[in-house]
Amino acid sequence: QAKQEERGSIVAYSKRMGDEIRDRVHLLRELRDAFAAERLFLVFQPQVELATGRCVGVEALLRWRTDDGGMVPPDRFIPLAERSGLIVALGEWVLRRACRKAARMAARGHGGVRMAINVSLTQFRDPRFVDRVRAALDESGASPGQIELEITESVAMDESARLAEVFGRIREMGLELAIDDFGTGYSSLSKLQRLRVDRLKIDRSFVQELGQGGRGGEIASLVCGLGRRLGMELIAEGIEEQVQAEQLLALGCQLGQGYLFARPMPADDLHAWLDAHAAGAGGT
Ligand code: C2E
Ligand code: MG
Ligand code: MG
Ligand code: MG
Repeated sequence: QAKQEERGSIVAYSKRMGDEIRDRVHLLRELRDAFAAERLFLVFQPQVELATGRCVGVEALLRWRTDDGGMVPPDRFIPLAERSGLIVALGEWVLRRACRKAARMAARGHGGVRMAINVSLTQFRDPRFVDRVRAALDESGASPGQIELEITESVAMDESARLAEVFGRIREMGLELAIDDFGTGYSSLSKLQRLRVDRLKIDRSFVQELGQGGRGGEIASLVCGLGRRLGMELIAEGIEEQVQAEQLLALGCQLGQGYLFARPMPADDLHAWLDAHAAGAGGT
């Protein structure tokens, strides 16, 4: 009886696995088609100085609208693209698009607004990555100092010497580096100091717990103290409430990003937002 039940659940399990693999293969094929048909696009979310509300940057975020008008979230398709290697081509497209947008922002008087671009481990491992970055800069005319690459904490902590060398070359080119989703990985302090990144991006999960008296508040406070000690600038992601912004500011976090300030917006809306925001600046 027990044996039979067990066998039954194994069969059910492998059927679920099979379904899941089939779904993934199907989704990957659709993603390739969407990429080829240029149905992927970027949205941009402002990053502001918490003390003044001044916009100091925008993060480029990838979006996929399917044929039937539905949206597939990046948390679903980016991992697929990573595992299949498609992320190299996709990531290059993101780089070029975002750099072009940055150049256009500069041309319209917003050259002081940084463009933050997410880069995944597979991209960093691509031997031609540095060349691709240089090409994206040359082709767009964007100034390297306006571009920041965001890398997740686990990637930044990769111990390979080659990756450290790639970071060094990126920095030499004049780009800035930020560690994304900080606090979710296992950073070694010495490694963190050696990497000399410009910014730490505090993960949304810790920000969400601020103002609720949870342990996330303690982590946010630890991360802020650490960043200050290492002389890095701090930015918090996923700020939705005023009280979170206030607490972060009190902890010494200078910058923030989240629905409280602005949602990610299409490229066409960004210039108008930046213009309006610059005009209305001065302590929001
Ligand atoms: P991320 O880099 O940590 O991006 C921040 C995510 O938080 C974005 O989700 C953004 O829309 C969301 N967010 C911002 N403010 C708030 C807020 O106040 N509340 C809440 N609940 N969410 C907020 P999104 O756009 O769904 O992207 C998810 C992840 O997908 C990104 O996390 C990033 O890891 C990855 N991703 C997105 N675009 C790219 C890309 O072009 N290349 C790579 N390699 N990864 C990307
Ligand atoms: Mg990011
Ligand atoms: Mg993040
Ligand atoms: Mg995140």
